[in-house]
Amino acid sequence: MQMIRVGMGFDVHCLVKGRALWLGGIQIQHEKGLLGHSDADALIHALCDALLGAAGQQDIGFHFPDTDEVYKDVDSKILLKKTMELLRSQSYELGNADIIVCAEAPRLNPHIPSMKTCLSETMKVTTDAISIKATTSEKMGYVGREEGIAVYATVLIYKA
Ligand code: MG
Repeated sequence: MQMIRVGMGFDVHCLVKGRALWLGGIQIQHEKGLLGHSDADALIHALCDALLGAAGQQDIGFHFPDTDEVYKDVDSKILLKKTMELLRSQSYELGNADIIVCAEAPRLNPHIPSMKTCLSETMKVTTDAISIKATTSEKMGYVGREEGIAVYATVLIYKA
């Protein structure tokens, strides 16, 4: 019997001037970037939380505390790699991930293929296991005012 489990993750970071914008493992040209202890890649953080949740392994803050200097400005791909290693050490494999990025600007659609390639290489899965969708917030709320970017992620993992 195949054991399957689902997990969901959510993350949000502030958009500020003077920071590089990292999202989905790639750098995107924009006048603002996400603020955080790490590179603040909210997409990867939401994805890691979904994966950890599915495996019953608490959350990203538990494994990679933002009070730890080791994770200052860290490339979030390292956290994603470590998360996948943890799952595989428990014989879990990714079925698929479905991710929604809520951002008023910049336009993310042109960057989605590069994000998918980057994430699939980092996670050692095929690109068709990863879906990324971008939406605006119709100018409403903190996303609409371009104060931040929010990301929702759902994953299915399985144990053969
Ligand atoms: Mg975060």
